[in-house]
Amino acid sequence: MYKLLFLALILIRFLWDIALHVLSAKQVGKPLPKSVQGIYDEAEYQKWRAYNGKKDKLSIASSIIALLINVLLYCTDLISVIYYAMPGGVMIKAILFFLAVGAAETIASLPIDYIFTFKIEEEFGFNKVTPKTFIVDTVKNYILNNVLNVIIFGLVLLAYNLLGNYFGLIVFAGLALFMILMSAFSSVFSKIFNKFTSLPEGELRDNLSKMFEDAGYKLKDIYVMDASRRTTKANAYCGGIGKLKQIVLYDNLVNNYTPGEITAVFAHELAHFKNKDTTKMTFFNMLNFLPMLLVMTLLMIFPEVAQSYGFESANIFFAFYVGFGSVLSIVTQLIMIPFNAMSCRFERRADSLAYELGYGDELISALRKLHKDSLSDMNPHPIVVKLTYNHPPLHERIELIESKKN
Ligand SMILES: [Zn+2]
Repeated sequence: MYKLLFLALILIRFLWDIALHVLSAKQVGKPLPKSVQGIYDEAEYQKWRAYNGKKDKLSIASSIIALLINVLLYCTDLISVIYYAMPGGVMIKAILFFLAVGAAETIASLPIDYIFTFKIEEEFGFNKVTPKTFIVDTVKNYILNNVLNVIIFGLVLLAYNLLGNYFGLIVFAGLALFMILMSAFSSVFSKIFNKFTSLPEGELRDNLSKMFEDAGYKLKDIYVMDASRRTTKANAYCGGIGKLKQIVLYDNLVNNYTPGEITAVFAHELAHFKNKDTTKMTFFNMLNFLPMLLVMTLLMIFPEVAQSYGFESANIFFAFYVGFGSVLSIVTQLIMIPFNAMSCRFERRADSLAYELGYGDELISALRKLHKDSLSDMNPHPIVVKLTYNHPPLHERIELIESKKN
């Protein structure tokens, strides 16, 4: 009975993925909006279609693998069988469970990651990852994910021992704190994966720091990140909490874009800072935890669910695994819809501010280049945009800036 419910959630998630693919496939070949015509020439457009077609197939394969893993875990007693097979108390059992199941999941997704990086991204000239970096990244990710799992589970266990069934409250507070710390120390985390160097003195640096300080911010530094070690795609982001802010530019951006275009991208990021968009998104993302914690609490109050999975009674590890696990991912997807709409609103506001600072044309030119270089979809299906995009599609962004000129 409960297994059927979980199976239904897993299947709905799978059908959701497939529906998005079908919509996207239907959109291919439809005429492009005027504002994005001519960005790709015919050969590049064919290249885009080929790239997306292959990426789509791979992502369907990855949805199928996830479906199989989930069916195996949530339609059998496998979770309790593995859990009870481990020695030690709750914490040790949990750690060993994460390590074992995490390793199995990493191994199962390895072929997909490998094909994506070394076949598709390689074929279309995006990939810069060497096999060595690929292996090192996979191992680092595995360790980092498991360390995070253990920390969060440890917190849940502690909260449960202290508060019983009210543990959700303290876990929420703990997670909120954790997310704030994560974003505060995001620069530390990215240093595990990348090297950062200060942007050299010169006109670009002067322009950027002046614009930032004019807006009333203290700039810690402008960093260039060696993203080209992994990808040819270009990007920029802001990080840090408190008074000292830092801007990170991908080296691909610095090397391939004009100073005007880089400044325009920067003006957009500045608007996010001014409006505290990142902080707001962090806050709203936290609300995402509420349904998980509610489910976890229910699983502790009603032991029948855990028992139907072969546990002797309500089990805090089982509640945790379900609460944070992929079985609830469809719920997360649905919650993200209004958040994505809000994020799109923030993006439009940031574009408007870049325009007001006098960088409208440069921003359009930078956006066209950015989208072209990453072979992104110039004409995504409107429903796919509504359901999954956290940035408006390119043609809407260009049309917005153009409309301000008149
Ligand atoms: Zn933005």
